Amino acid sequence: MQPDLSYILTHLGEDRELYFGAVAPPIVQTSNFAFKTVAEMRNVFQDEMSEYVYSRGLNPTVDILRKKLAALDGAEDCLVFNSGAAAIFAGVLAFVKSGDHIISVEKPYSWAQKMFDVVLPRFGVTTTYVDGRTLESFEAARQPNTSFIYLESPNSWNYAIQPLAQVAQLAKQHNITTLIDNSYCSPLYQRPIELGIDLVMQTATKYISGHSDTLGGLLTGSHSRIKQIFDSEYLNIGSGIQPFNAWLLLRGLRTLPARIDRITRSTQKVLHFFKQHPAIDSFLFPLDPSFPQYALAREQMQGACGLITISLTGGTEEKIIRFCESLKRFLMAVSWGGHESLVIPKCAGLPEGNFDAANPEHQWIRVYVGLEEPEYLIEDLEQALNAINT
Ligand SMILES: *Cc1c(COP(=O)(O)O)cnc(C)c1O
Repeated sequence: MQPDLSYILTHLGEDRELYFGAVAPPIVQTSNFAFKTVAEMRNVFQDEMSEYVYSRGLNPTVDILRKKLAALDGAEDCLVFNSGAAAIFAGVLAFVKSGDHIISVEKPYSWAQKMFDVVLPRFGVTTTYVDGRTLESFEAARQPNTSFIYLESPNSWNYAIQPLAQVAQLAKQHNITTLIDNSYCSPLYQRPIELGIDLVMQTATKYISGHSDTLGGLLTGSHSRIKQIFDSEYLNIGSGIQPFNAWLLLRGLRTLPARIDRITRSTQKVLHFFKQHPAIDSFLFPLDPSFPQYALAREQMQGACGLITISLTGGTEEKIIRFCESLKRFLMAVSWGGHESLVIPKCAGLPEGNFDAANPEHQWIRVYVGLEEPEYLIEDLEQALNAINT
């Protein structure tokens, strides 16, 4: 069921009578909250998730955001963190213990992979990476001590997709907690809770903020799972979002559907341009009929936008560099989801001299389509493609 976007974004969680009828909520920039009686204070210490006491826990500005984000995902509850990486870390850590085994989709977001490869092995937690495109690979990797399945669908470079409802069902049969990185789709284009996934993570830095001016991350899920994370990892690591950054995310959220609509339409135009241009050898986009998992994408996603991965015809490293450095409107930068169009070549992540022309991934250039006029963007892409051979 689609959420009531207009109600959620404009009204849910807002208590305007409390703050002079102000349309935009106040930034409650306080570290602590005062009590009148010892009894009240004692009550709160029994459960820090029941009242405002200290902003490392609950904060009123952050709470408005939590309510809206939970409703967008169709979840009971939500926690907002200072970054997507912090949300991933807390969400995984809360549900694994020494001796446990994790199944992760291959090539997850780089800092998720770092946690699996470097941090968790120090505590006796091992991870198996699987090609997540089929249920069978999860079944084959499952061990008696598997307690967690980590998903990212679609992947933000190659858009590989996992059959979410099937994986969720397998996990439930074996008491395994599932978490998905849903940053690519946002709740407008994919609703994993409805497919049976336990925890949904998003980097709010990307589409939720939409203005490239703050980091943020979120987890949504059942109230009991979110409370478990709050009581331990959230309070203990202290990586909750600060009130001002929460306020920026609230502001971004107001225009999320309008921005996603615009980016979706512009992305289609840019895709059309790439398809007919001889300097483009190939491209990846999950809702294009040429995409290998197109049928599954259509089944579990309501849309796709923003990111297209391209490879240039005869893509030597020199050509890739020439193309990226010739762009005048697209900025070369990490991240995506903001107002500004971006480009990032995969080869920038390789040490100099390690480019292998025979490796298709080394050829990848990821293009992010922002909010500018699509004609203005296409003109820039055209001149940069022409510049390759001059
Ligand atoms: C950016 C990103 C993250 C991490 O989010 P931060 O807010 O940068 O910590 C996680 N997953 C995906 C797919 C991302 O693009």
